[in-house]
Amino acid sequence: MFFRSVLFLFVLNLPYLLFAQTVAVVSTTQIYDITKNIAGDDVKVLSILAPGQDPHTYSPVPADIEKVKSADIVIENGLHLEGKNWMKNLAADAKKPLVTASDGIVPLILEAHGEKINDPHAWFTPQNAAVYVNNITRALIRIDPEKKENFVMRAKLYLAQLRALDGWIKKEVSVIPPDRRVLVTNHDAFNYFAKEYGFVNTAPTGWSTGSEVGGGVTPERREKAVRSIKEMRVRTIFFETTINPKLIREIAADAGVRVGGSLYSDSMGDEGTPGETYIGMMRENVLKIVRGLK
Ligand SMILES: [Zn+2]
Repeated sequence: MFFRSVLFLFVLNLPYLLFAQTVAVVSTTQIYDITKNIAGDDVKVLSILAPGQDPHTYSPVPADIEKVKSADIVIENGLHLEGKNWMKNLAADAKKPLVTASDGIVPLILEAHGEKINDPHAWFTPQNAAVYVNNITRALIRIDPEKKENFVMRAKLYLAQLRALDGWIKKEVSVIPPDRRVLVTNHDAFNYFAKEYGFVNTAPTGWSTGSEVGGGVTPERREKAVRSIKEMRVRTIFFETTINPKLIREIAADAGVRVGGSLYSDSMGDEGTPGETYIGMMRENVLKIVRGLK
């Protein structure tokens, strides 16, 4: 009788035992896409943030706690992108191993209220995205070593696409005269991109979109943005998909310049938009920037 019950339970759970997948829970939409590219169907990848949500100001909800409980590994961006360390805290509360995708990147330094902080927006160069790929690949191998070859093969393919993306960006931005390479957006998301591709970057809000961490839009920052636009004879400025465009429209009006549409910054786009993948998001931004500034 006992044996039959055990057998019955075993048969009942067979589909689960056979098809149980390892689970990676990630914080942002960019990390979700990069992780999916390496994981394929071998690992179930779940994202805490949905397209359009802001990682700086996000507060976890009960469903996030459940997601993290199901995780074999938790992956964050790090560099304090996740405001008040919400992803670190979720992983610690659920006692799950945490991987920081930006580990090993030498961060750019930003000043906020006289305080120096590491710029969290490291994914904005394909070179840094490659560091994310390597860290995430190692993490996936750790939780599912039998699938190592699959992960390594997909990572190689994706790294080749990132190298192609870098070459394409260099070619595209080369049509913008160097003195017109000034990028004005809502917040300091584009410093890594700017440094890599020869742009000057200025943003009224500072490094974060959250007033509690970034100090909001101080009159000085706003004035500095208007002054830079005039001094550098910028013709087009941009807003960001996750942020209300009101401030950028006001600054554009004050400085007498055009608004060149929205760029993807801290989040990718919805399914079916050009920004639904990391590479698509980068391409779409570059096309808009080149159209606006050339
Ligand atoms: Zn940001």
